Amino acid sequence: MKTDLSHLRADFPILSRTIHGKPLVFLDSAASSQKPTQVLDAMDDLYRSHYGNVYRGAYALSEESTAAYESARATVARFIGTESQQVAFVRGATSGLNAVAYGWGLNHLGEGDTILLTLMEHHANVVPWQMLARYTGAKLVYAPFTEDYRLDLDALGKMLDDTVKVVAITGMSNVLGTMPPVAEIGSMARAHGALVVVDAAQLVPHVPVRVDDLGADFLAFSGHKMLGPTGIGVLWGRMERFEEMEPYEGGGEMISDVQLDSSTWASIPHRFEAGTPPFVEAVGLAAAIDYLESIGMETVTAHDHELTTMALERLTDVPGLKIYGPGDVADRGGVISFTVDGIHPHDVSTILDGEGIAIRAGHHCARPLARAIGAPATARVSFYVYNVPSEVDALIEGLHKARKLFNVA
Ligand code: PMP
Repeated sequence: MKTDLSHLRADFPILSRTIHGKPLVFLDSAASSQKPTQVLDAMDDLYRSHYGNVYRGAYALSEESTAAYESARATVARFIGTESQQVAFVRGATSGLNAVAYGWGLNHLGEGDTILLTLMEHHANVVPWQMLARYTGAKLVYAPFTEDYRLDLDALGKMLDDTVKVVAITGMSNVLGTMPPVAEIGSMARAHGALVVVDAAQLVPHVPVRVDDLGADFLAFSGHKMLGPTGIGVLWGRMERFEEMEPYEGGGEMISDVQLDSSTWASIPHRFEAGTPPFVEAVGLAAAIDYLESIGMETVTAHDHELTTMALERLTDVPGLKIYGPGDVADRGGVISFTVDGIHPHDVSTILDGEGIAIRAGHHCARPLARAIGAPATARVSFYVYNVPSEVDALIEGLHKARKLFNVA
């Protein structure tokens, strides 16, 4: 490996754990990543020394918490190349996508309109649009993928007509690892006047993202998949789209005035942040971003690629193992889904757990995709900055052991 990040492991307290008497090998970062001490300390310090509800108090602690929250927003903005005003803190990618579907979709879509998704979306980028379609009478269509698990751009191009009002796509599939060419799809969509929404839950943690280069209208991601805490995520919006969007939730903090029968909204992005926001979590996310930036996002991507290349090679040596995803590492991320002949993915996962190895098994919240690839369940490994080549060795050994146990060796 050219990018040796093994020194980072000391920053992650959980990695010194043993599981069933074996050293933990954590290969499920696509579901949620582990947290470095720097993130835990930043949150702990806010709770211990600066904690007071944001915006409300004319006292020092409230002002300190408010400053920390707004500084976290500036950190996120810098990380994705935008202005603070375009960063709304939400609960995660799911709530960001729901905010767009309801806040923008309800007052812009109607009968005769089309929402274009892809067959490789996570449920978070399917179900909100299904609900919107039910409320508005709009229709849903899904762009397929090719035999080598790439998004079928020709088919997508043919589906794009002037009835398409929203194109909602993943930046990286959490099952296939496929990274569709978002910028290209964005310009195709814009030529038809369609809004482009990017589910960046797997993209932002792994690849340097400048929102202007992506050409999207909205982009959503979660803190917990990028070394940050749970309960915090980001909805980025192009300013004119944010202006067209209604708040998805109402309550405190998001208003400018409240009369008995109506209210006016606070400025953007605060109108999209009803209630006490997860400000401690925002500070944790900012610490995670500082940590990722100190590694360098190009290095994060290169490290993912090296481990993925190694794992793809080694996995193909396991008899009866089938990989679902593009073979070419250049356009895929560090997520590898597979099945092993004769062993259910849940059994693969349980046997590996016995070896201290944590992987995912199931439909990975993407049932339409699971059906389309003809595998209702797959096993999935995913990598992040703290993984090392010896963990790929442990995985391969564990898989051989599983085959022996199931007598398929
Ligand atoms: N989209 C993708 C591609 C994901 O992998 C996930 C998380 N598994 C989500 C959306 C939803 O993220 P969250 O559960 O953090 O809202």
